[in-house]
Amino acid sequence: MNAIGVDVGGTKIAAAVVSPEGKILNEVRYPTQAVPPNRLVGTIAQAIMEVKDGFEVGGVCLAVPGLILAAENKVIFSPNLHEIEDIRLDEEMGDRTGLRVTVENDANAAAWGEFRYGAGADVDHQVFITLGTGVGGGVITHGVLLRGAQGAGGEMGHVTIDPKGPRCGCGNYGCLEALASGTAIQRLAREIANERSDSALGRLAIERQVLGEDVTRLAQEGDEAAISVLEETGMWLGIGLAGFVNIFNPEVIAVGGGAARAGELILGPARKEIQRRSRSPSRDLVETKEATLGPESGVLGAAGLARGEDGEYVLGPSKRVA
Ligand SMILES: [Zn+2]
Repeated sequence: MNAIGVDVGGTKIAAAVVSPEGKILNEVRYPTQAVPPNRLVGTIAQAIMEVKDGFEVGGVCLAVPGLILAAENKVIFSPNLHEIEDIRLDEEMGDRTGLRVTVENDANAAAWGEFRYGAGADVDHQVFITLGTGVGGGVITHGVLLRGAQGAGGEMGHVTIDPKGPRCGCGNYGCLEALASGTAIQRLAREIANERSDSALGRLAIERQVLGEDVTRLAQEGDEAAISVLEETGMWLGIGLAGFVNIFNPEVIAVGGGAARAGELILGPARKEIQRRSRSPSRDLVETKEATLGPESGVLGAAGLARGEDGEYVLGPSKRVA
């Protein structure tokens, strides 16, 4: 039986019908900004009904950014989607769609997508980390998604890496997110551009605001200043990941999100820190690689976490069922 995964983001709502093999059979997208706040629930339901048309579907899961209580199917806090906070989404959506609807944190869903169908498809123990505007993550151990007592587990972006580091969006200082996100890359790029105004990075920063993708492009073209931005970012990332390697002993660390497109320019320095700071035998086993599903990991993972009327995963309990 197929399942529907819905990626409810600040910019778009993407709903997809996914087969047990992880194939997207149908997909619809709505820009979130075009939806009046009081119509958000209705629009998500509409996207589900539209994408479902003509397909047999066993359940739906919504992937939502923020703090989610998966066990209660409730969004407690979602930075850009306050309209869906504190309501029983399973009941609201169930009434409107006639399907069982569950809710999961978006990074957990993306982690599950990579585990079932992407970088972790051949392993049972995977750490996923996504480097976007913020840093999110998810941990799968023995084939089970780690949620913690309240469903708030796996918040890897807010582990303190440097207590004297820059302020993080969460209010703390020196979180992994403050040092290794896309936002952190932009901040560091500004600093290094100021110091090295004769570099390609420095010259671009005089013309306009430097974006994360500019840093990647300039680094790929060989600009030393841009390379050093990604090296430092990779170092902080690796310090964070070394801790996770020690704790979870994963077979694979999958790194996704926009900044992961810098590939080896970030992953190389990260691996060096993992080797330096984590312990044997965990460090000898772990393979740190780029996530493979890109932005599709959200809908694929959400579909993978959809449950049927019997409470079981619609697409099967393990990737090996597929
Ligand atoms: Zn933080």
